[in-house]
Amino acid sequence: VEAIFSISMAATRLLSKFVVLDIDGVILKGGFLVPGAVGAVKQLADHRIPYVFVTNGGGMTEANKAADLSKKIHLDVDPAQVILSHTPWRDLKETYANSKVLVIGGQPRCLEVAHCYGFNKACSVEQIHTENPTMYPLRKPSPNQSQSSDPCAPVEAVMVFHDPVDWGLEMQAICDALAPSQLVQHPSLATPENRARGHIPLYVSNADIAYATEHPYPRFTQGAFTTALKHLYEVHHKQPLVIEYCGKPYDVQYKYATQVLHQQARNQHTRSDECHTHSPQSEQPPTQSSEAVYFGVGDNPLSDIRGANNAGPQWRSILVRTGMFSDRSAANDATDPAHYVCESIVEAAQLIVDYDGEQSS
Ligand SMILES: [Mg+2]
Repeated sequence: VEAIFSISMAATRLLSKFVVLDIDGVILKGGFLVPGAVGAVKQLADHRIPYVFVTNGGGMTEANKAADLSKKIHLDVDPAQVILSHTPWRDLKETYANSKVLVIGGQPRCLEVAHCYGFNKACSVEQIHTENPTMYPLRKPSPNQSQSSDPCAPVEAVMVFHDPVDWGLEMQAICDALAPSQLVQHPSLATPENRARGHIPLYVSNADIAYATEHPYPRFTQGAFTTALKHLYEVHHKQPLVIEYCGKPYDVQYKYATQVLHQQARNQHTRSDECHTHSPQSEQPPTQSSEAVYFGVGDNPLSDIRGANNAGPQWRSILVRTGMFSDRSAANDATDPAHYVCESIVEAAQLIVDYDGEQSS
C-alpha cells in the first residue's frame, strides 16, 4: 500500500510557484502605475500564486506601506504581503524587547516603527543628545526633546531604519555607542558576541548607495552614510566596523520572504478548504511532494537580480525593463544576468503563469 501511495504521489507532483515582486520600477514608476501592472498582479492572484512585495524602501510600518500601495494599485494589499528593507528585524523582537536600541532615520516615524516591532525602549539620536548635552559641541540639544525611557542605560544596539538626516550628529552618536570602550565601561555589554565583534551590534537595512528621485542625478541614500561611517569609525577607533545588513540582495530578505510566502500558501489552502473551491496551486500546499519554484521580479540587477540569483537553486530571477535597467541595446545585465529578461511586469506574470519547470535559459 505504501508503494502504491508513493507512486500516486509522484504522479501528481505539482509545481508550487511563489513570487517576490519589487515595487519601484516594476509596479510603480515615479509614483505612477506601470501600464498593465494591476492586471499582471491580478493574474497571479487569479492563479492562486502567492506573491509578496519586497522593497528596499522603509521608514514606515508595513501596514502604512500596504495602505499606500492599495490606494495606488487599486488592489487590497495585506500588510503581511509587504516586506520592507527592515521587516526582518521583527524577528529580533525577543532579543531587544527591553533593550535600549538607538534608532537612526527620520523621526518620529522610524521610532514609531521600532516601537511597533516590539523594541519597547527604542530611542532617537535627539533623545541621546538631550541626555548628553555636551556630546555635540556644534549644537545644543533641542529644548523640547523628551528623554528616552531609560536615560542611564547604555545603548545595546544601533539600527539604521532609514536614510539618516543629520549626518554629523548621527555619526557622532553612532561612533560613541559603538566605541570599544563601551564594553569595558558597561560589563552588561561585554557578551561573548560583542567582545568577538569589538562593539555592540550595528544593523543596517539598505546598502544602496544612491537612488533615483525627481532630481536629474541619483541622490545619496543609506549605503552612502554607512560607507562614510565605516571609514570614519575605523580611522577613529582603529578597529573594523562589523555591519549586519538586511534588505535586498542579502539572503535574510529572501529567507524571510520564503516564510511569508509559505504562510500565505497555507492560508490559501485553509480558505479553499473552507469554501470547497479548488485550484491547481492551492490543492497542494507546499510539502515535500510538491516542487517549489520561486521567482524574483525586479528592475535593479544589483539588488533584485543578484539577490534572487544567490537565494538558492529553486529561485529564478526576472529582470524587467521598466526601471533601472533601461539600456535597450543590452540583452541582459552584464554583471548580474537574470534568468529571464522581460519587457515589463505584464510579460513577467505571463512567464510565471506559463512556467512548467523547464531549465532556465
Ligand atoms: Mg526597484
